[in-house]
Order: sequence, then C-alpha cells, then structure tokens
Amino acid sequence: MSRPIQATINFSSLRKNLQLVRELTGKKVIGVIKADAYGHGAIPVARVLEEQKVDCLAVACIEEAINLREGGIQSPILLLEGFFSEEELPQIEQYQLSTVIRQTEQIDILSRWKGKPFDVWLKIDTGMHRIGFLPHEFSEAYRRLKECPSVRNVVLMTHFSSADEPEKPKTLQQINLFNSLTEGYAEETCMCNSAGIMQWPAAHGDWVRPGVMLYGSSPFIEPHPLDNRLEPVMELTSQIFSIHNLPAGAPIGYGETFITDRPMRIGVVATGYADGYPRHAPSGTPVLVNGQRTRLVGRISMDMLSIDLSHLPNAGIGDTVTLWGKGLPATEVAHHAGTISYELLCNLKRARIKYID
Ligand code: PLP
Repeated sequence: MSRPIQATINFSSLRKNLQLVRELTGKKVIGVIKADAYGHGAIPVARVLEEQKVDCLAVACIEEAINLREGGIQSPILLLEGFFSEEELPQIEQYQLSTVIRQTEQIDILSRWKGKPFDVWLKIDTGMHRIGFLPHEFSEAYRRLKECPSVRNVVLMTHFSSADEPEKPKTLQQINLFNSLTEGYAEETCMCNSAGIMQWPAAHGDWVRPGVMLYGSSPFIEPHPLDNRLEPVMELTSQIFSIHNLPAGAPIGYGETFITDRPMRIGVVATGYADGYPRHAPSGTPVLVNGQRTRLVGRISMDMLSIDLSHLPNAGIGDTVTLWGKGLPATEVAHHAGTISYELLCNLKRARIKYID
C-alpha cells in the first residue's frame, strides 16, 4: 500500500460556495485560483468554475495564466500582480489575458505597446500600502491609461487590509476613500475579497473577488454568522499506521515536548510537515479519528505525527484520521498553529488528490 495521505476535493461543495457568493452579492464574480487554486488544483477547479459560468478567473502571474490556457480554460483571466516586464505583453495578447496596473512604469510600458489592446484593472491603494496608485496619483494614472491605444476597458479596484477584522474602522475608511475617489467615473468597480463579501455588503461594487470562501474556509479568525453556509471543499485524511501503549512519564517525539501523565495509547499518523501539515501545531490541536475528535501529542515530525487514542479504544491501525475537512475546519487547525487556513491549503504537498463531484 502506498502512503495513505489523501486530499479529497469535493466539487459539489465548490459549486455551493460559489452559489453563496452569488446569493450574497448578485454581482459579477472573479474566482481567485492563484497558488494552484489554494492547493485544490488550478485546472480542475477552473473547469468547474467555468462550467458554472464564473465571469472571470484571477491568478497571481503569467505562468499561472498560461498553465490555465494550456489546460483548455477559456474564461477571462486577470493577472492580480500585473506584468513584471515588457516581455510579458506579447503573451498577454496571445493568451488573451487582462492585467492589474499598479504603478507608473507599467503605464510607460503600455504606452509603447503596438499590439492588440486589452482590458486593465487599475489598482488604487486605499490603505493596504502594498501595491497600487496612492489616492493623489489615481487621476493622473487613469488619464494616462485612457489615452493608451493599447487599453480597451478599465475597471477600478482596491484591496482591503483588514476586512477579516470587522471591529476595526479600517475597512470602512478604505470603502469611503475608494468611493470618494471613483465617484463620477463611469468605470466598473471591484473591492471585495471573501471577508469583504461576507461582512461588507456596501462594498460589493460591480465585481467581487472571492478566494478562500470558494474553498469553504472562513477568512475570519473569530466565528462568523455565515460559517455554517461554507462547505469545506478539501478534506485532508491519512491513516494510523502504528500504535504504542505507553506508561505514565513517557516523552513523545522530538524535543520531548509532551510527556504522558498516565498510561496512554498513542497512534502514529502518516503525515508530517513535509506534507504541508503545520509544524507549529502544538499538542492539543484537534484531529478526527473515524469522525471522533482527539488531539495531537508532541511535535510534528517531517513525515509523521502522533495522536492520543486513550479514549478511543476501538481505533486501530489503518483507521482514517481527518486532519481538516468536514467537522474540523482548516481555520480551526490553523488557529492552533498560529497561522491562517490559506497557508495550510496552499502548502499541501505529497498528498494523493482525489476529485469527487
Ligand atoms: N484579491 C486579491 C488582490 C488578492 O490578493 C486575494 C488573495 O489574496 C483575493 C482577492 C482573494 O482573497 P480571499 O482568499 O481572502 O477571498
């Protein structure tokens, strides 16, 4: 038998999550499928979103976009980081892509381009302070873009820094700034990531850009009223392949960070940090064994982790361990490990992937 770690990707959940986006917003949807669709497989996920008539797909960079086109994907594709050099423009033309424009140097390059025109998404930095034109640079950037013969359509966009922290005033400030800057412009607008979609209906604009919520994971650290409407698309499972009955006082794993305080039954699971399971998940992080909750004990190794089976006397070698999925959101595991579900999903490696409908 081969190593038993498996990621099961459930397309019916993906469709339901997309349906939720549409129900909440009624707006045009850009399915964000960068980083191999957050570890779910870019081409298979794109096929489902395309079949569901999503309005656009978004990736980080041109390599990800070309991969989709070569995989037969025909939907509009947006490059969220935009192009990095002039050499990319013939490929943007050839593969019929659209691109974010985030700085003046890109407009200089575009104004020299003699090929076919394409659509651009003008990014305004309303407070994320990562990429985009600052408020005082916006109107000049817009004017220059509109004068470029190589520019067909312009959409105005921004990105929130803290939409997943609803108690902070920041998102409202960003929305107000974006609205005041773009008021009176005829162009379409796009602001919301998943947290914006779920929490900030006033910001839905003409387009929304969901990523993590399509995969059924909440962008929020705290519980959210819509959590139970999200269906995890990925279920990561493995198996118990060894069991020890240990006396009290036995240290477990590297660094002896967990010591049994009574006789304990410990299972070893074929998953470790080389598979993408977070090494920083401490003892106590939940897992499911045959659907029942138990916890990690000791440090995560490269290929293995240990779990407490003391209260699960019927659990045996070969039994299924769910590391995240239905009944155990990736967000919860991530919270224990001091990270976010995005990182867990994107970091997945070595797992067999099984797609189900
Ligand atoms: N828009 C942009 C510009 C992004 O960078 C991302 C992801 O990081 C998204 C949308 C999707 O975000 P989320 O996965 O939080 O919905």
